Amino acid sequence: MQDPAAPASRQTAWHAHSVESASRHLDVDSSDGLSDAEAARRLDSHGPNRLTERPGKPAWRRFAAQLAQPLVIVLIAAGAVTAMLGEMVEAGVILGVVLVNALIGYWQEAKAEGALAALARSVATPVTVRRGSHRRQIDASRLVPGDIVMLAAGDRIPADLRLLHQRELHTDDSLLTGESQAVGKHTDPLPADTAPADRANMAWAGSKVVMGQGCGLVVATGDATETGRIAGLIAAAPELITPLTRKMARFSNWLLWAIGGLAGLTFAVGLARGETAFDMFMAAVALAVGAIPEGLPAAVTVTLAIGVARMAKRKAIIRHLPAVETLGSTTVICSDKTGTLTENAMTVRVLWCAGEGYAVSGQGYAPEGDIRHDEMPAAVAGALRECLLAGALCNDASLCQEHDCWLITGDPTEAALLVAARKAGLDEHTLRALYPRRDELPFDAGRQYMATSHAADGGHILYVKGALEKLLPRCIDQTADDGGSWPLDPVAVELAARAYAEQGMRVLIVARRDLAGDAGLDDAAVDRLTLIGLVGMIDPPRKAVIGAIHNCHAAGVRVKMITGDHAVTALAIAHQIGIDASRAVTGRELAALDDAALADIAHTTDVFARVEPEQKLRLVRALQTRGEVVAMTGDGVNDAPALKQADIGVAMGLAGTEVAKEAAAMVLTDDNFASIEAAVEEGRGVWDNLVKFITWTLPTNFGEGLVIVAAILAGTTLPITPLQILWINMTTAVLLGLPLAFEPIERGIMRRPPRRLDQPVLDAALVRRIVLVSILLLAGSFGLFLRELAQGHTLAEARTVAVNVFVMVEAAYLFNCRSLRQGFWKQGLFSNPWLWAGTGFMLGLQMAMTYLPVMNRLFQTAPIGVEEWEEIVAVALLCSLIVGVEKRLSRTG
Ligand code: ATP
Repeated sequence: MQDPAAPASRQTAWHAHSVESASRHLDVDSSDGLSDAEAARRLDSHGPNRLTERPGKPAWRRFAAQLAQPLVIVLIAAGAVTAMLGEMVEAGVILGVVLVNALIGYWQEAKAEGALAALARSVATPVTVRRGSHRRQIDASRLVPGDIVMLAAGDRIPADLRLLHQRELHTDDSLLTGESQAVGKHTDPLPADTAPADRANMAWAGSKVVMGQGCGLVVATGDATETGRIAGLIAAAPELITPLTRKMARFSNWLLWAIGGLAGLTFAVGLARGETAFDMFMAAVALAVGAIPEGLPAAVTVTLAIGVARMAKRKAIIRHLPAVETLGSTTVICSDKTGTLTENAMTVRVLWCAGEGYAVSGQGYAPEGDIRHDEMPAAVAGALRECLLAGALCNDASLCQEHDCWLITGDPTEAALLVAARKAGLDEHTLRALYPRRDELPFDAGRQYMATSHAADGGHILYVKGALEKLLPRCIDQTADDGGSWPLDPVAVELAARAYAEQGMRVLIVARRDLAGDAGLDDAAVDRLTLIGLVGMIDPPRKAVIGAIHNCHAAGVRVKMITGDHAVTALAIAHQIGIDASRAVTGRELAALDDAALADIAHTTDVFARVEPEQKLRLVRALQTRGEVVAMTGDGVNDAPALKQADIGVAMGLAGTEVAKEAAAMVLTDDNFASIEAAVEEGRGVWDNLVKFITWTLPTNFGEGLVIVAAILAGTTLPITPLQILWINMTTAVLLGLPLAFEPIERGIMRRPPRRLDQPVLDAALVRRIVLVSILLLAGSFGLFLRELAQGHTLAEARTVAVNVFVMVEAAYLFNCRSLRQGFWKQGLFSNPWLWAGTGFMLGLQMAMTYLPVMNRLFQTAPIGVEEWEEIVAVALLCSLIVGVEKRLSRTG
């Protein structure tokens, strides 16, 4: 069969077609959409709606970038000069190590990037389509030409569309046109020669809907779209640079100068003492390779990557790596209420019409339950009937039943109204046929109401539902019990609304107005309304949230609720979840404040209600001026600036718009506040493990440096050769150091205060510990080296002892580093099996290095006796004990 869409796209001037002719061309009835079978067939022939990725930076350039780091260049230079001096084995090993190190770095980075990119892709892009006469949510990749796609503010347009219908639809087409001003859209045909940028009846894949709503006919998908033709998708490598890696780079540069200076000094002192230039050069090389912490950059990346993976398991997808570090420093979490702190599962509980309250029974979205008045089934007539009818008509949601389960598409607030209407026997399909919709004003968080106009009884009716503060002032009378009209009693309405809100209910006003003609709707028409009634719906708090908020408070993290809902409702929910606020500040109050006053209020208040999304940006800034590190949640298109400004922008994976997800540093796959708390905990764990690694690794480098300098100053032969130093650094970094990245989160980590962002990586106590261990390493290895020589052992044997002292002390000290404050056993001795595996393997390697003839030849080592081992182990245990005592003293001190 011929595919109607096949010859299409490229040559067809879709903008020149009328809506009907475009639909005809694509063989689809625009009111029903494609059938499932036809969509599946088209998917087969067109392929998924995805852009083919073009490779990013070539692999060799990424590998070269690993070699271009200052510390590595020093090593390469040292290796080259060593080769020129004829020391080919040493040179080979130095360069080999450089290569292996670069390979590990490259591989780790590629893995981390791949994992980050895969996680970013794992956040699905749902789109709402009309298929088989039903609205349905599908993944954007499954769209085919001929599909009818619904658009709403915040969507990223999933394919090229010929617009069929629109209401205030504006898109940001800058991806294609470079012009970032929002473009207003319409649906009328345009001359065939209209330039692509001016085809206002088209919506282009990749553009963003900044305002309004609409629906469009898919005319091209995947690579056939304009974006696909022009750009393709360049595989963007996620940013692996974080504040910490930047700090590390600065530290490396500093180290480079220090090592350079020290090496020069050693060289000069040695020469002055009459040593040969060759020996002194080799000593300088030993110093350089010893003092450079080769494993550090890879360890930082690995630890961060492990953190990202752990967070993903706890439903928080990191989009920007720096967020992993910042999370641990978060001092304030600003959270939306609906859907994040609460379930966003709305159920209408009460209706208030003509001065009477009605109770609605039933749970969830199943339309099972009834409406009662004074415990008796209520007659669905007059104001009550009209309230339910208006709620069902001024509504874009839909309900469907699948395997005994009631599912909704669209806004849960609206779905709850459909369910309530059905409980009274009013089916929305019938109502929509009886009162066809003529026009609409979509709900948006700024407007806080939605209005629709319908043809009825030869005239037109406007139905509107929305926030009390917005609509009550526009009401002039109210519907009476018998359907007639009564004078309005605003005080009674407010009292009723307040009573429901105090129970934590979201309260909507439902109102109507008879329209004179068939003129289009605008905000001015939403005036001189007749109040029909109030609707109160519950949205229970999420279960895990109460515990999560408690943990945040214990961890010194304030939780602030920022909601569009009414102040009384917000306060009631805040109390239910453990936010102990005495009052809620409203968006209107915020608007009247200058920046300084806002900073005060933002600091001291925990519940903000009726906040417009634009105000969130001011709130974030105000908190930041007080030195707070702010995590802010958001889902709508207007939340994007605040998400970008926050230290951690958090978007909702399920209910969030694409624009919000793109602006965020982290996306929650379950929209649950508890996942933010989990991510903060993981962030603290990651930072802890990084500090542990650094505290563990630096003494080795400093110790090695000290040994070389001491040997030169003392005028003895080097106790360890450059080759042996490289061996120690590389094997221990991988086998002993990396397992630290897998350390489980320390107990009690959420009872510590947040880490200040400007706090140095190592505090004074840790610097002291690093110096102490460096000196212990110097004393142990140099002491035993001299003792071996004094006892008449060979140089090779004495060096073997010195090398083993380093490795064994490092292994013992590793256990000290499992916790920076507590005893190592507090974490559970076997809670990190990697540590034991790494230590075991390391010991095996040391045996090989000491006893295997080939290793003896390569590394100039020699077998040593039991007595030497006893001394080595004794030194290692003593060092560990001293560090243990120092830890205890610095804890009490
Ligand atoms: P948040 O997610 O920030 O906690 P929210 O979802 O409670 O906020 P909004 O969606 O901005 O807040 O809604 C604000 C107010 O607008 C609600 O309190 C309600 O009165 C009204 N409202 C919400 N949804 C609709 C809707 N679909 N139609 C009409 N009015 C609505």
